[in-house]
Amino acid sequence: MTTEISIVATLSALAALAILAYRHRGSRKQSEAEVNAWKLRLEQDLKQAREERNRLLDALGDAFLLVDSDANVRFANDAARSLFGNRELVNRPVREAFLDPRLADALLRCLATGEPVQSRVVLPQQTSPRGDLETRGVNAWIIDAAQLTNPNGGMTTTRVIIRDVTAEHQIEQVRKDFVANASHELRTPLAIINGYLENLLDDDMIAEPEMARRFLTIMRKHADRISRIVEDMLVISRLESGEANALKIEPFRFRSCIKDILERLESVIRNQQAEMVVTMPDPDLMMQGDRFYWTQVLFNLVENALKQNPYTGLRVEVGCHQVGDNLQIWVADNGVGIPSADLPHIFRRFFRVEKHHSQQEIKGTGLGLSIVKRAIEAHGGTIGVTSVPGSETKFLITVPKDLR
Ligand code: ADP
Repeated sequence: MTTEISIVATLSALAALAILAYRHRGSRKQSEAEVNAWKLRLEQDLKQAREERNRLLDALGDAFLLVDSDANVRFANDAARSLFGNRELVNRPVREAFLDPRLADALLRCLATGEPVQSRVVLPQQTSPRGDLETRGVNAWIIDAAQLTNPNGGMTTTRVIIRDVTAEHQIEQVRKDFVANASHELRTPLAIINGYLENLLDDDMIAEPEMARRFLTIMRKHADRISRIVEDMLVISRLESGEANALKIEPFRFRSCIKDILERLESVIRNQQAEMVVTMPDPDLMMQGDRFYWTQVLFNLVENALKQNPYTGLRVEVGCHQVGDNLQIWVADNGVGIPSADLPHIFRRFFRVEKHHSQQEIKGTGLGLSIVKRAIEAHGGTIGVTSVPGSETKFLITVPKDLR
């Protein structure tokens, strides 16, 4: 009996153990499933956070990259991808990813020292990060690199921003060239005036009235040139300083501008026996704009035609007609023309066609066409030029008829 009891007791104990083990297995399975669910949710959250971060970084206008401490690119936003012509960037060493070592250098300096680096890099067209897409010639970039702090220790990441500053660089370059060219252009007549002054005073030429008069006449010619250059520079600077917004816009008859300039140039036209033709299908055509600048535009263009062809029998045409909402204005002549190689540079400040000026001394500052272009642009218009030397040189302006 006792044996039976002990067998039953043992069996019940075993059954209880089995039930316990079964229950335990069940709860282990349950907690495993719970852990898996947590894991999944965590992964989804991480993925979502990463996607959100990428979306935000893609919205940046500047190229943005993350680089690990082995100098491998780990992330590149949309702007970076398109900047590098959609070349593969991620998982590539920066030296390989960037076309020019000068771009990579700033970033590698930051990786080596841990110090933030901001560096301006000016590159020739061939090694622009934009690759074959670069058409702007010399291009300029700011590389801004700094290490991100990693609170958990481990691998450090460096963020890199590449900003395109080509437009600012070009403006700066134009300013520098302007100052350099202006100083050069002013220095020449000033040196001549100083030379004659020395002659007059130090060599006592003042005692010889005839010689003195000759010297003074030359000096006056060069002083006139200085004031012409200064005046032209002031007009350009006014047009560029945003004062263009303060143009005095008013309606006026275009014919009145033509009348004004023909009067001002009357003696030159008469001396050269130039044939002046005015083509205006609507003689009462009105336009809106600053009459002062439009008169200057027409004056510079017609004066150029006469000045560049100082012989008799030149034909100059001034025309204006309406095309849709625009006005087309042109000044054409049948003179020496402009060599095709010079045409792209003709509106640059101080540019003068070499060939024209070696032949005879033609007055000019090389600023006339820059003023013309700036004044037209201030009115929302454009100007172009075509030239077949000896046949037709035509400056064609297109400008909205009504300024809003
Ligand atoms: P400039 O003060 O020398 O006239 P511009 O800027 O007005 O300066 O013109 C630049 C150059 O373009 C001139 O020096 C001249 O060589 C050339 N040019 C301008 N207009 C004409 C034209 N109608 N025919 C031939 N050459 C021209």
